[in-house]
Amino acid sequence: MITARAAFDALREGNRRFVSELGLDASSSQARRHQLPTAGQEPFAIILGCSDARVPAEIVFDQGLGDLFVIRVAGNIVAPSQIGSVEFAAERFGTRLVVVLGHSNCGAIDATLQQLQRPKENQSRNLRSIVDLVRPSVENLLATDLKYDLPKLLHEAVRANIRASAVHLRHGSEIIENLIQNDGLMIVGAEYSLDTGEVDFFEGIGEPADR
Ligand SMILES: [Zn+2]
Repeated sequence: MITARAAFDALREGNRRFVSELGLDASSSQARRHQLPTAGQEPFAIILGCSDARVPAEIVFDQGLGDLFVIRVAGNIVAPSQIGSVEFAAERFGTRLVVVLGHSNCGAIDATLQQLQRPKENQSRNLRSIVDLVRPSVENLLATDLKYDLPKLLHEAVRANIRASAVHLRHGSEIIENLIQNDGLMIVGAEYSLDTGEVDFFEGIGEPADR
């Protein structure tokens, strides 16, 4: 299995290909499917992304069948089932990079901000469980002047939520903490821009990535 750093470079390169439309090489062909072992998988990165239809991980990173282990949930939130999925892939397949992939103008973040400002009584319990997970990372932003600048508020809230999900995952379980400490697992945060198609890896690419 490739290192977290190599996986990171591969994703960054793939996103460059997606944006430029040059040298695209993701394969979802039947030939590619035949090459894949049916007995196991070897995804080189784990992506925890939003369910938004405009942000399919394989496409924006120009990856094909077998390349990514993708967990998608509205607002790229971290609940026990997401932590369990990351544990499963990191332990079972030896995958060493996890990317929390949020995106600009995320509807789940926007819904949370709206709920905080104008609470709806009849919100479904299930939807509320998502809002409740986003809330802690964004509600203090509403106490600042950002509340007068809604686009900027949403932008900052999206990033705060990505950061919070990455931090939450890093401390999500003993298994994950152990893999980070001893086995080179890296968890980073990134924002996909709906305007440009670019992925900005803004969180957690520091010394750990350079080790
Ligand atoms: Zn979203």
